[in-house]
Amino acid sequence: MEITRSVSLQPLNSFGVPAVAAHFAAISNRAELEEALAFAKAERLPIQVLGGGSNVLFIRDYPGLVLHMENHGVEFLQTMPGQMQRVRAGAGENWHDFVSMCSRKGLYGLENLALIPGTVGAAPMQNIGAYGAEIADCLIELSVYDRKKNSWLTMDKSQCEFSYRDSLFKQSGRDRFIIFDVTLELSTAWYPNLSYAALANALVNQEPTAEQVIEAVCSIRRSKLPDPGVLGNAGSFFKNPIISEDKYASLLEQLPGLPSYQTGESGLTKIPAAWLLDKLGWKGRTRGAAKVHDAHALVLVNTGDASGEDILLLAQAMSSSVLESFGIALEPEVQIL
Ligand SMILES: Cc1cc2nc3c(=O)[nH]c(=O)nc-3n(C[C@H](O)[C@H](O)[C@H](O)COP(=O)(O)OP(=O)(O)OC[C@H]3O[C@@H](n4cnc5c(N)ncnc54)[C@H](O)[C@@H]3O)c2cc1C
Repeated sequence: MEITRSVSLQPLNSFGVPAVAAHFAAISNRAELEEALAFAKAERLPIQVLGGGSNVLFIRDYPGLVLHMENHGVEFLQTMPGQMQRVRAGAGENWHDFVSMCSRKGLYGLENLALIPGTVGAAPMQNIGAYGAEIADCLIELSVYDRKKNSWLTMDKSQCEFSYRDSLFKQSGRDRFIIFDVTLELSTAWYPNLSYAALANALVNQEPTAEQVIEAVCSIRRSKLPDPGVLGNAGSFFKNPIISEDKYASLLEQLPGLPSYQTGESGLTKIPAAWLLDKLGWKGRTRGAAKVHDAHALVLVNTGDASGEDILLLAQAMSSSVLESFGIALEPEVQIL
Protein backbone atom coordinates (compact mmCIF):
# COMPACT_ATOMS: atom_id res chain seq x y z
CA MET A 1 0.00 0.00 0.00
CA GLU A 2 1.30 3.39 -0.98
CA ILE A 3 0.88 6.51 1.12
CA THR A 4 0.94 9.55 -1.15
CA ARG A 5 1.55 13.14 -0.10
CA SER A 6 -0.35 16.29 -1.11
CA VAL A 7 -3.27 14.69 -2.93
CA SER A 8 -6.04 16.88 -4.38
CA LEU A 9 -9.45 15.94 -3.01
CA GLN A 10 -11.29 18.09 -5.60
CA PRO A 11 -12.12 15.13 -7.89
CA LEU A 12 -13.08 13.04 -4.84
CA ASN A 13 -15.91 15.21 -3.46
CA SER A 14 -19.23 15.72 -5.22
CA PHE A 15 -19.28 19.48 -4.45
CA GLY A 16 -16.05 19.64 -6.47
CA VAL A 17 -14.50 22.13 -4.04
CA PRO A 18 -10.72 22.35 -3.76
CA ALA A 19 -8.91 20.77 -0.80
CA VAL A 20 -5.65 18.88 -0.41
CA ALA A 21 -4.94 15.87 1.81
CA ALA A 22 -1.48 15.99 3.37
CA HIS A 23 -1.38 12.17 3.17
CA PHE A 24 -3.61 9.79 1.23
CA ALA A 25 -4.01 6.01 1.07
CA ALA A 26 -6.31 3.84 -1.05
CA ILE A 27 -7.54 0.92 1.07
CA SER A 28 -8.29 -2.35 -0.75
CA ASN A 29 -8.11 -4.91 2.06
CA ARG A 30 -7.88 -5.37 5.83
CA ALA A 31 -4.07 -5.55 5.89
CA GLU A 32 -3.80 -2.21 4.05
CA LEU A 33 -6.17 -0.59 6.52
CA GLU A 34 -4.11 -1.84 9.47
CA GLU A 35 -0.89 -0.69 7.79
CA ALA A 36 -2.30 2.79 7.09
CA LEU A 37 -3.55 3.12 10.67
CA ALA A 38 -0.13 2.10 12.01
CA PHE A 39 1.50 4.76 9.80
CA ALA A 40 -0.91 7.43 11.08
CA LYS A 41 -0.23 6.41 14.67
CA ALA A 42 3.55 6.50 14.19
CA GLU A 43 3.35 9.91 12.47
CA ARG A 44 0.67 11.20 14.92
CA LEU A 45 -1.67 12.05 12.06
CA PRO A 46 -5.43 12.47 12.34
CA ILE A 47 -7.49 10.24 10.05
CA GLN A 48 -10.40 10.95 7.74
CA VAL A 49 -12.26 8.10 6.05
CA LEU A 50 -13.63 8.93 2.60
CA GLY A 51 -15.97 6.96 0.35
CA GLY A 52 -17.53 8.59 -2.72
CA GLY A 53 -17.29 12.08 -1.19
CA SER A 54 -20.99 12.75 -1.84
CA ASN A 55 -21.89 13.77 1.70
CA VAL A 56 -18.90 15.87 2.73
CA LEU A 57 -17.96 19.53 2.44
CA PHE A 58 -14.25 20.29 2.68
CA ILE A 59 -13.79 23.79 4.05
CA ARG A 60 -10.01 23.55 4.35
CA ASP A 61 -7.10 21.29 3.43
CA TYR A 62 -6.88 18.10 5.47
CA PRO A 63 -3.68 17.97 7.54
CA GLY A 64 -3.76 14.22 8.27
CA LEU A 65 -4.24 10.93 6.41
CA VAL A 66 -7.26 10.39 4.17
CA LEU A 67 -8.25 6.72 3.87
CA HIS A 68 -10.11 6.21 0.61
CA MET A 69 -12.19 3.02 0.92
CA GLU A 70 -11.68 0.96 -2.23
CA ASN A 71 -12.30 -2.59 -0.95
CA HIS A 72 -14.65 -4.36 -3.35
CA GLY A 73 -16.51 -7.65 -3.52
CA VAL A 74 -20.09 -8.86 -3.13
CA GLU A 75 -20.76 -12.27 -1.57
CA PHE A 76 -24.13 -13.96 -1.73
CA LEU A 77 -24.42 -15.81 1.57
CA GLN A 78 -26.78 -18.38 3.03
CA THR A 79 -30.51 -18.39 2.40
CA MET A 80 -32.59 -17.78 5.49
CA PRO A 81 -36.06 -18.91 6.55
CA GLY A 82 -38.97 -16.90 5.10
CA GLN A 83 -37.60 -16.35 1.56
CA MET A 84 -34.67 -14.24 2.73
CA GLN A 85 -31.05 -14.28 1.64
CA ARG A 86 -28.01 -12.55 3.07
CA VAL A 87 -25.53 -10.62 0.99
CA ARG A 88 -22.28 -9.00 2.08
CA ALA A 89 -20.62 -6.12 0.21
CA GLY A 90 -17.27 -4.38 0.64
CA ALA A 91 -17.29 -0.76 1.80
CA GLY A 92 -15.79 0.47 -1.48
CA GLU A 93 -18.60 -0.90 -3.68
CA ASN A 94 -20.68 1.72 -5.46
CA TRP A 95 -24.09 1.84 -3.76
CA HIS A 96 -26.27 2.15 -6.86
CA ASP A 97 -24.40 -0.62 -8.71
CA PHE A 98 -24.91 -2.84 -5.66
CA VAL A 99 -28.66 -2.07 -5.58
CA SER A 100 -28.95 -2.91 -9.30
CA MET A 101 -26.93 -6.11 -8.90
CA CYS A 102 -29.14 -7.37 -6.05
CA SER A 103 -32.30 -6.69 -8.03
CA ARG A 104 -30.88 -8.51 -11.09
CA LYS A 105 -30.10 -11.51 -8.84
CA GLY A 106 -33.71 -11.57 -7.60
CA LEU A 107 -32.94 -10.13 -4.16
CA TYR A 108 -35.34 -7.37 -3.24
CA GLY A 109 -35.68 -4.58 -0.68
CA LEU A 110 -33.25 -1.90 -1.88
CA GLU A 111 -35.07 -0.62 -5.00
CA ASN A 112 -36.29 2.63 -3.39
CA LEU A 113 -32.69 3.48 -2.50
CA ALA A 114 -31.50 3.37 -6.11
CA LEU A 115 -29.29 6.17 -7.45
CA ILE A 116 -28.19 7.45 -4.04
CA PRO A 117 -24.57 8.41 -4.76
CA GLY A 118 -21.66 7.04 -2.77
CA THR A 119 -20.37 3.79 -1.40
CA VAL A 120 -21.79 0.82 0.49
CA GLY A 121 -19.50 1.55 3.47
CA ALA A 122 -20.87 5.07 3.97
CA ALA A 123 -24.51 4.02 3.67
CA PRO A 124 -24.95 2.99 7.35
CA MET A 125 -23.19 6.18 8.47
CA GLN A 126 -26.29 8.30 8.04
CA ASN A 127 -28.73 5.41 7.56
CA ILE A 128 -29.33 6.47 3.96
CA GLY A 129 -32.96 6.73 3.07
CA ALA A 130 -35.34 7.75 0.31
CA TYR A 131 -38.89 7.11 -0.89
CA GLY A 132 -40.08 5.38 2.28
CA ALA A 133 -37.06 3.07 2.76
CA GLU A 134 -33.76 3.22 4.63
CA ILE A 135 -30.78 0.90 4.84
CA ALA A 136 -31.62 0.01 8.46
CA ASP A 137 -34.69 -1.88 7.12
CA CYS A 138 -32.42 -4.59 5.64
CA LEU A 139 -29.13 -4.29 7.51
CA ILE A 140 -28.04 -7.28 9.62
CA GLU A 141 -24.42 -6.60 10.59
CA LEU A 142 -21.23 -4.74 9.78
CA SER A 143 -17.54 -5.60 9.95
CA VAL A 144 -15.74 -2.64 11.43
CA TYR A 145 -12.29 -1.73 12.62
CA ASP A 146 -12.53 -0.29 16.13
CA ARG A 147 -9.79 2.33 16.44
CA LYS A 148 -10.28 2.62 20.20
CA LYS A 149 -9.71 -1.10 20.87
CA ASN A 150 -7.41 -1.60 17.85
CA SER A 151 -9.37 -4.64 16.76
CA TRP A 152 -11.80 -5.94 14.18
CA LEU A 153 -15.33 -6.61 15.29
CA THR A 154 -18.76 -7.48 14.00
CA MET A 155 -21.57 -5.15 15.03
CA ASP A 156 -25.20 -6.11 14.70
CA LYS A 157 -27.96 -3.72 13.75
CA SER A 158 -29.05 -3.05 17.35
CA GLN A 159 -25.56 -1.71 18.14
CA CYS A 160 -25.67 0.80 15.28
CA GLU A 161 -28.27 3.10 16.93
CA PHE A 162 -29.98 3.90 13.64
CA SER A 163 -32.48 6.74 13.43
CA TYR A 164 -33.51 9.29 10.79
CA ARG A 165 -30.32 10.11 8.78
CA ASP A 166 -28.29 9.17 11.83
CA SER A 167 -26.40 6.36 13.54
CA LEU A 168 -23.80 5.65 16.18
CA PHE A 169 -21.16 6.23 13.45
CA LYS A 170 -22.22 9.85 13.01
CA GLN A 171 -22.42 10.46 16.77
CA SER A 172 -20.35 8.89 19.58
CA GLY A 173 -18.76 6.36 17.19
CA ARG A 174 -17.48 9.06 14.87
CA ASP A 175 -13.71 8.79 14.43
CA ARG A 176 -13.82 5.40 16.15
CA PHE A 177 -15.27 2.83 13.71
CA ILE A 178 -14.21 2.22 10.12
CA ILE A 179 -16.85 0.24 8.26
CA PHE A 180 -15.22 -2.47 6.17
CA ASP A 181 -18.20 -4.47 4.91
CA VAL A 182 -21.96 -4.52 5.28
CA THR A 183 -24.30 -7.55 5.45
CA LEU A 184 -27.92 -7.13 4.42
CA GLU A 185 -30.85 -9.54 4.41
CA LEU A 186 -32.95 -9.25 1.27
CA SER A 187 -36.13 -10.96 0.15
CA THR A 188 -36.30 -13.50 -2.67
CA ALA A 189 -40.01 -12.64 -2.94
CA TRP A 190 -40.94 -9.37 -4.64
CA TYR A 191 -43.23 -6.90 -2.87
CA PRO A 192 -42.97 -3.28 -4.05
CA ASN A 193 -42.75 -0.59 -1.37
CA LEU A 194 -45.02 2.16 -2.74
CA SER A 195 -45.61 3.88 0.60
CA TYR A 196 -44.17 7.15 -0.74
CA ALA A 197 -46.85 9.10 -2.61
CA ALA A 198 -44.65 10.41 -5.45
CA LEU A 199 -43.49 6.88 -6.24
CA ALA A 200 -46.98 5.40 -5.99
CA ASN A 201 -48.25 8.13 -8.34
CA ALA A 202 -45.51 7.43 -10.86
CA LEU A 203 -46.53 3.76 -10.93
CA VAL A 204 -50.28 4.14 -10.62
CA ASN A 205 -52.40 1.32 -12.13
CA GLN A 206 -49.36 -0.92 -12.47
CA GLU A 207 -48.07 -4.00 -10.73
CA PRO A 208 -44.47 -2.91 -11.18
CA THR A 209 -41.48 -5.20 -11.34
CA ALA A 210 -38.42 -4.40 -9.23
CA GLU A 211 -36.73 -3.06 -12.36
CA GLN A 212 -39.65 -0.72 -13.02
CA VAL A 213 -39.53 0.59 -9.44
CA ILE A 214 -35.79 1.25 -9.80
CA GLU A 215 -36.43 3.05 -13.10
CA ALA A 216 -39.21 5.15 -11.55
CA VAL A 217 -37.03 6.07 -8.55
CA CYS A 218 -34.15 7.05 -10.87
CA SER A 219 -36.45 9.11 -13.05
CA ILE A 220 -38.00 11.00 -10.09
CA ARG A 221 -34.54 11.62 -8.64
CA ARG A 222 -33.16 12.88 -11.98
CA SER A 223 -36.10 15.28 -12.33
CA LYS A 224 -35.57 16.72 -8.84
CA LEU A 225 -31.87 16.63 -8.07
CA PRO A 226 -28.95 18.02 -10.05
CA ASP A 227 -26.41 15.46 -11.29
CA PRO A 228 -23.21 16.07 -9.27
CA GLY A 229 -21.22 15.16 -12.40
CA VAL A 230 -22.67 18.28 -14.04
CA LEU A 231 -23.33 20.64 -11.11
CA GLY A 232 -21.40 20.01 -7.88
CA ASN A 233 -23.68 19.24 -4.91
CA ALA A 234 -24.18 16.84 -2.02
CA GLY A 235 -27.93 16.29 -2.23
CA SER A 236 -29.92 17.69 0.71
CA PHE A 237 -27.66 19.96 2.71
CA PHE A 238 -29.87 19.94 5.83
CA LYS A 239 -31.92 17.26 7.57
CA ASN A 240 -35.66 17.70 7.81
CA PRO A 241 -36.34 18.99 11.34
CA ILE A 242 -38.16 16.73 13.79
CA ILE A 243 -40.26 18.86 16.15
CA SER A 244 -42.91 18.36 18.82
CA GLU A 245 -46.54 18.28 17.75
CA ASP A 246 -47.14 21.35 19.95
CA LYS A 247 -44.46 23.28 18.09
CA TYR A 248 -45.97 22.11 14.81
CA ALA A 249 -49.42 23.37 15.87
CA SER A 250 -48.03 26.81 16.69
CA LEU A 251 -46.03 26.93 13.43
CA LEU A 252 -49.16 26.07 11.45
CA GLU A 253 -50.73 29.33 12.65
CA GLN A 254 -47.74 31.23 11.25
CA LEU A 255 -47.35 29.00 8.18
CA PRO A 256 -50.70 27.65 6.96
CA GLY A 257 -50.20 24.60 4.74
CA LEU A 258 -46.88 23.54 6.32
CA PRO A 259 -46.67 19.80 5.53
CA SER A 260 -45.75 17.22 8.18
CA TYR A 261 -44.74 13.57 8.09
CA GLN A 262 -44.93 10.76 10.61
CA THR A 263 -41.74 9.92 12.47
CA GLY A 264 -42.88 6.70 14.12
CA GLU A 265 -42.40 8.38 17.51
CA SER A 266 -45.44 9.67 19.35
CA GLY A 267 -45.56 13.42 20.00
CA LEU A 268 -43.03 14.16 17.26
CA THR A 269 -43.45 15.15 13.65
CA LYS A 270 -41.08 15.80 10.73
CA ILE A 271 -41.38 18.93 8.61
CA PRO A 272 -39.68 19.66 5.27
CA ALA A 273 -36.69 21.99 5.58
CA ALA A 274 -37.00 22.76 1.85
CA TRP A 275 -40.52 24.15 2.39
CA LEU A 276 -39.29 26.53 5.14
CA LEU A 277 -36.35 27.68 3.03
CA ASP A 278 -38.57 28.16 0.01
CA LYS A 279 -40.95 30.32 2.06
CA LEU A 280 -37.99 32.53 2.93
CA GLY A 281 -37.10 32.91 -0.75
CA TRP A 282 -33.80 31.04 -0.73
CA LYS A 283 -34.11 29.29 -4.10
CA GLY A 284 -31.60 30.72 -6.58
CA ARG A 285 -29.73 32.91 -4.07
CA THR A 286 -25.93 32.96 -4.30
CA ARG A 287 -22.74 33.61 -2.42
CA GLY A 288 -19.87 33.82 -4.90
CA ALA A 289 -20.12 30.67 -6.99
CA ALA A 290 -22.14 28.89 -4.28
CA LYS A 291 -25.84 28.84 -5.04
CA VAL A 292 -29.12 27.50 -3.71
CA HIS A 293 -30.48 25.34 -6.53
CA ASP A 294 -33.22 27.03 -8.57
CA ALA A 295 -35.52 24.03 -8.28
CA HIS A 296 -34.76 22.77 -4.76
CA ALA A 297 -34.13 25.01 -1.72
CA LEU A 298 -32.41 22.19 0.21
CA VAL A 299 -29.70 21.63 -2.38
CA LEU A 300 -26.62 23.87 -2.48
CA VAL A 301 -24.60 23.78 -5.68
CA ASN A 302 -21.16 24.79 -6.84
CA THR A 303 -21.73 26.71 -10.08
CA GLY A 304 -18.02 26.87 -10.90
CA ASP A 305 -15.19 27.77 -8.61
CA ALA A 306 -16.93 27.93 -5.22
CA SER A 307 -14.80 27.16 -2.19
CA GLY A 308 -16.06 25.02 0.67
CA GLU A 309 -16.19 28.18 2.75
CA ASP A 310 -18.50 29.92 0.23
CA ILE A 311 -20.89 26.99 0.47
CA LEU A 312 -20.66 26.88 4.26
CA LEU A 313 -21.33 30.63 4.62
CA LEU A 314 -24.37 30.37 2.35
CA ALA A 315 -25.64 27.39 4.41
CA GLN A 316 -25.09 29.31 7.65
CA ALA A 317 -27.06 32.29 6.34
CA MET A 318 -29.90 29.94 5.40
CA SER A 319 -30.04 28.22 8.78
CA SER A 320 -29.83 31.57 10.63
CA SER A 321 -32.82 32.89 8.71
CA VAL A 322 -34.88 29.77 9.53
CA LEU A 323 -33.95 30.11 13.20
CA GLU A 324 -34.84 33.80 13.32
CA SER A 325 -38.10 33.41 11.40
CA PHE A 326 -39.46 30.13 12.76
CA GLY A 327 -37.40 29.24 15.85
CA ILE A 328 -36.11 26.05 14.22
CA ALA A 329 -32.43 25.08 14.18
CA LEU A 330 -31.56 23.29 10.94
CA GLU A 331 -29.00 20.53 11.30
CA PRO A 332 -26.61 19.84 8.39
CA GLU A 333 -26.89 16.39 6.88
CA VAL A 334 -23.56 16.92 5.11
CA GLN A 335 -20.36 16.31 7.11
CA ILE A 336 -18.35 19.53 7.28
CA LEU A 337 -14.62 18.76 7.30
C1 LIG B 1 -27.31 14.17 -5.71
C2 LIG B 1 -27.27 13.53 -4.35
C3 LIG B 1 -28.40 12.93 -3.84
C4 LIG B 1 -28.39 12.34 -2.57
N1 LIG B 1 -29.51 11.74 -2.12
C5 LIG B 1 -29.52 11.14 -0.92
C6 LIG B 1 -30.69 10.47 -0.45
O1 LIG B 1 -31.71 10.41 -1.13
N2 LIG B 1 -30.65 9.90 0.78
C7 LIG B 1 -29.52 9.91 1.54
O2 LIG B 1 -29.56 9.35 2.64
N3 LIG B 1 -28.40 10.52 1.13
C8 LIG B 1 -28.37 11.13 -0.08
N4 LIG B 1 -27.23 11.76 -0.52
C9 LIG B 1 -26.05 11.81 0.34
C10 LIG B 1 -25.00 10.70 0.05
O3 LIG B 1 -25.20 10.15 -1.21
C11 LIG B 1 -25.05 9.59 1.10
O4 LIG B 1 -24.88 10.12 2.38
C12 LIG B 1 -23.97 8.54 0.84
O5 LIG B 1 -24.16 7.44 1.71
C13 LIG B 1 -22.56 9.07 1.02
O6 LIG B 1 -21.67 8.08 0.58
P1 LIG B 1 -20.17 8.43 0.24
O7 LIG B 1 -19.46 7.15 -0.02
O8 LIG B 1 -20.11 9.42 -0.84
O9 LIG B 1 -19.70 9.03 1.63
P2 LIG B 1 -18.62 10.19 1.87
O10 LIG B 1 -19.21 11.48 1.44
O11 LIG B 1 -17.31 9.82 1.32
O12 LIG B 1 -18.55 10.17 3.46
C14 LIG B 1 -19.64 10.58 4.24
C15 LIG B 1 -19.30 10.35 5.71
O13 LIG B 1 -19.20 8.93 5.92
C16 LIG B 1 -17.90 8.60 6.43
N5 LIG B 1 -17.53 7.32 5.81
C17 LIG B 1 -17.50 7.04 4.49
N6 LIG B 1 -17.16 5.74 4.32
C18 LIG B 1 -16.98 5.21 5.54
C19 LIG B 1 -16.60 3.93 6.04
N7 LIG B 1 -16.35 2.90 5.21
N8 LIG B 1 -16.49 3.75 7.38
C20 LIG B 1 -16.73 4.78 8.24
N9 LIG B 1 -17.10 6.01 7.84
C21 LIG B 1 -17.21 6.23 6.52
C22 LIG B 1 -16.99 9.74 6.01
O14 LIG B 1 -15.89 9.86 6.92
C23 LIG B 1 -17.93 10.93 6.11
O15 LIG B 1 -18.03 11.37 7.44
C24 LIG B 1 -27.21 12.36 -1.80
C25 LIG B 1 -26.05 12.97 -2.31
C26 LIG B 1 -26.08 13.55 -3.58
C27 LIG B 1 -24.83 14.16 -4.13
